[in-house]
Amino acid sequence: APTAVPAGPRTVRAARGTELTAKSWQTEAPLRMLMNNLDPEVAEHPEDLVVYGGTGKAARNWESFDAITKTLERLEADETLLVQSGKPVGVFRTNVWAPRVLIANSNLVGDWATWPEFRKLEAEGLMMYGQMTAGSWIYIGSQGILQGTYETFAAVGRKLIAEGRADGGVGEGREHEGPLAGTLTLTGGCGGMGGAQPLAVTLNDGACLVVDVDETRLQRRVGKRYLDEVETDLDAAIAKVLQAKAERRGWSVGVVGNAAEVFPELLRRHRAGELTVDVVTDQTSAHDPLAYLPVGITVAGWKQAAQDDPEGFTQKAQKSMARHVQAMVEFQDAGAEVFDYGNSIRDEARKGGYDRAFEFPGFVPAYIRPLFCEGLGPFRWVALSGDPEDIRVTDEAIKELFPEKTHLHKWLDAAAERVEFEGLPARICWLGYGERHRAGLRFNELVAEGKLKAPIVIGRDHLDSGSVASPYRETEAMKDGSDAIADWPLLNALTAASSGATWVSIHHGGGVGIGRSIHAGQVSVADGTELAAAKLTALLTNDPGMGVIRHVDAGYERAIEVARERGVDVPMLEG
Ligand code: NAD
Repeated sequence: APTAVPAGPRTVRAARGTELTAKSWQTEAPLRMLMNNLDPEVAEHPEDLVVYGGTGKAARNWESFDAITKTLERLEADETLLVQSGKPVGVFRTNVWAPRVLIANSNLVGDWATWPEFRKLEAEGLMMYGQMTAGSWIYIGSQGILQGTYETFAAVGRKLIAEGRADGGVGEGREHEGPLAGTLTLTGGCGGMGGAQPLAVTLNDGACLVVDVDETRLQRRVGKRYLDEVETDLDAAIAKVLQAKAERRGWSVGVVGNAAEVFPELLRRHRAGELTVDVVTDQTSAHDPLAYLPVGITVAGWKQAAQDDPEGFTQKAQKSMARHVQAMVEFQDAGAEVFDYGNSIRDEARKGGYDRAFEFPGFVPAYIRPLFCEGLGPFRWVALSGDPEDIRVTDEAIKELFPEKTHLHKWLDAAAERVEFEGLPARICWLGYGERHRAGLRFNELVAEGKLKAPIVIGRDHLDSGSVASPYRETEAMKDGSDAIADWPLLNALTAASSGATWVSIHHGGGVGIGRSIHAGQVSVADGTELAAAKLTALLTNDPGMGVIRHVDAGYERAIEVARERGVDVPMLEG
């Protein structure tokens, strides 16, 4: 009789070392990465197969998880496993260049693409929410968030420098400064994701004042070295960040207060010439009005007040957000750099009666799009050996490959020093068109030479230059109005599948929810073979190439320059 396998929750952790459970590294890699996504160090609620981002899951249920792992263990080098919303549904004979796994998660036909329809199908056991990297088995913990935030603030700094509003790293003796040296950033929200802001600013050598109503949130971040210190007194907090700004030193202070009160007070002082705030943003959880504390309610009374009268609480929160956003708009009027950081605070302030709310931009059109024009995006990799030393070797290899990228070196050094690994050791850094394949090939050589103990998995977030259609975030305000066109992520997935990726995924609803995004992911394996080298060359050239051509097509000058300079073949681009 077959042995009964428990189909319920259990602790999952990826194997380490070089002993294979599957038939090759090309199938061992997805097996380990699926398991790594569910490692309790990595996943938010592993017992429910939930990895991150609300209900983003790695497999539909435990039966599906078991069936996926069993299939990967027996899968041949010329076979492909098909996964539909976290359930394995078929194995086909393909060829060695084809992906070993093809994944489609949470996709619904246009008119049916709503949360109620999705939840009905999910309750019937027919679908799951895959988020971005949860259902595509390449989530690497909070390191990914920190690095994206760091890149955003670096781009803010570079914009200020280009406009003559900051001079970090400019001039003799300042070569080693980050772009935000000598500036002060004001922001709100020091929670799960917003808590990456102070460290992201200080890694760019800026001073940062972060306002949070809840002192425990600020204290927790100090404990994890994401924040330098906490102050309850506003004058003392301001004095500390102004001193750091004057000394051109990265330093962050968390101040306990309500952003809807502290932002207007800082604006008053800024206008009075008592201080200059250079950058203003916010990551309070404004997307959910019950998670934003209105002025006049205490932290202690928050939960009860929201429960007792959600409608009334929402109105109060929106009114406070109107004051909060009014201060942000008026900071912009008064010369500061102001942007929305993906938390919907502009729309909530508009609902609260403030009609100038949308006068400052979202962060993607403001800073990230020029990077996307170069195919730059969140390149990440994982050491299948489980040995942190392998990541140290790859960090060094990246620095040797790109000696001129001092900003990248700074990130890698800071990450090595300050970021704890969650699950299998991993690293992330932004690389562009013409760079990613060089990194992939170098990793492959290091595996072949035995300088790494096991193969390296190479992937990326779906939040990348040519892989997502998301009109409220990544494709907000495209130059040609093509925000909602989802042909691009579909072409991206097909291109990855045609270029030697080991697994490829197409998802719907990641980041911003059902009905609002379609996006694709790809992952490959540097196993030291010549076949892997050929695949990595094609895949890691063509994938960021999608970012370049997507932005060429939308008419971005920088993308057109990049295509011409680096030889990206775009049939209808003249010259
Ligand atoms: P979180 O709930 O963990 O933290 C929110 C913090 O805001 C809490 O610490 C809370 O005490 C504080 N807060 C609430 N009301 C406040 C007020 N009036 N004044 C000052 N502080 C207040 O949420 P999170 O995971 O940090 O995410 C924050 C927001 O940022 C969310 O809306 C999220 O969707 C958004 N976000 C966007 C991106 C992006 O697009 N790049 C990335 C990360 C997070």
